[in-house]
Amino acid sequence: MVEHYDLVIIGSGIHGVGIAQAAAARGLSVMVLEQTGIASGSSSRSSKLIHGGLRYLESGQLSLVRECLQERAILLKLAPQLVEIKSFYIPVYPDTSRRPWRLHVGLSLYALLGGMQPEVRFSRVPSSRWQDLDGLDTEHLDAVFQYQDAQTDDAALTRAVMSSAQQMGAQLRVPATFIGARMGQNGDRDSIIEYRHNGIDETCSATVLVNAAGPWVSQVLSRIHPTPTQLGIELVQGTHITVPGTITQGIYYVEAEDKRAVFVMPWQGNTLIGTTESVYHGDPAGVRPLPQERAYLLRTLARYFPSRGSDQKVLSEMAGLRVLPSSRSEGGAVSVNTRSRETLLHLDNEGHPRVLTVYGGKLTTYRLTAERVMARLAWILPVRQVIADTRYLKLD
Ligand SMILES: Cc1cc2nc3c(=O)[nH]c(=O)nc-3n(C[C@H](O)[C@H](O)[C@H](O)COP(=O)(O)OP(=O)(O)OC[C@H]3O[C@@H](n4cnc5c(N)ncnc54)[C@H](O)[C@@H]3O)c2cc1C
Repeated sequence: MVEHYDLVIIGSGIHGVGIAQAAAARGLSVMVLEQTGIASGSSSRSSKLIHGGLRYLESGQLSLVRECLQERAILLKLAPQLVEIKSFYIPVYPDTSRRPWRLHVGLSLYALLGGMQPEVRFSRVPSSRWQDLDGLDTEHLDAVFQYQDAQTDDAALTRAVMSSAQQMGAQLRVPATFIGARMGQNGDRDSIIEYRHNGIDETCSATVLVNAAGPWVSQVLSRIHPTPTQLGIELVQGTHITVPGTITQGIYYVEAEDKRAVFVMPWQGNTLIGTTESVYHGDPAGVRPLPQERAYLLRTLARYFPSRGSDQKVLSEMAGLRVLPSSRSEGGAVSVNTRSRETLLHLDNEGHPRVLTVYGGKLTTYRLTAERVMARLAWILPVRQVIADTRYLKLD
């Protein structure tokens, strides 16, 4: 007899663990398979922001921004030691593409979407305070806007959610690599799943298989028989570097030479700068920071903080992969910056779903995504004794 689970989840990034938590909270039996380690993929290589995503306003993704702000408010309550409000500063110079009036409109809309809570208020920093801003270049500075968003430790948050799921009975196998699955062909048949745990091949069955493999989603789908349909995606690399010396006032949201947004953030006593965007082809495990990304981030730092210079020693660097809808699937070449950041949930079969795949998404909205996964699968999963509601589950 093989072990049976209501849900088997591939991947212990923020989405896999979030779905495990939501499932366990409903009393479902759930097992997570992780090939490397908790948060070893994109969930430890993000910008570590729990934020509404101010720049998504420009591409009209208002509902995404509203949801992100609502989730931010929930996480600030559930995990105050892991999610912390910070001041964000946006400096405006004569060559900054977003003019003060535009920032004013954007920040007003942001505050409105955030329900006008104290954490979404913004202001203009008086010029008398500019010299306090961590060495920010004040020459030709026109204005500085201050608003608030939150910062987290992405890997620690992911571990805390997994631990919450485990406390409610979820199981985690690591290192455990998903090898393949045979899907049940009729509505009443389970899927058979094969995986290698600590070098030993094992088999289990599940009512539903959740593919939360992040940048590996397509690899995982190709190992399922019959192979479910796939969405067109692109992997987009984003690099961060850490340089010595901390900043004390908050997080700086600056515009790089190509007009992209770059964050300069305090991080564990040093300064974290990111990120970049370049389309990535190849095995997700092979993603590495590129010399040109390092140079670009150092130039951006030196542009806004001249005393730092562009020859700073780089203490550490990391590259992560975003999963975005391919520009072809959005009907032509769409810049990475303006492509949808919505999380897409894809079922192999609306009639008798056996596999649900999570594409893309944000660290910020992991809890909501997990609840949506549960809602999509509710009618196929058994009803069990509910243990908790994720809106009220403290994380530590
Ligand atoms: C550069 C960058 C910056 C970002 N910044 C932010 C931000 O500031 N705020 C925000 O809200 N979001 C941000 N995001 C988005 C967010 O980080 C991701 O959406 C999120 O971490 C994705 O989590 P995931 O669980 O889907 O994937 P991952 O974290 O990649 O997890 C997938 C897991 O699946 C495992 N896996 C893969 N294949 C197998 C297999 N065959 N068997 C077993 N396990 C397997 C992998 O080892 C991995 O641990 C950023 C993303 C990037 C790339």
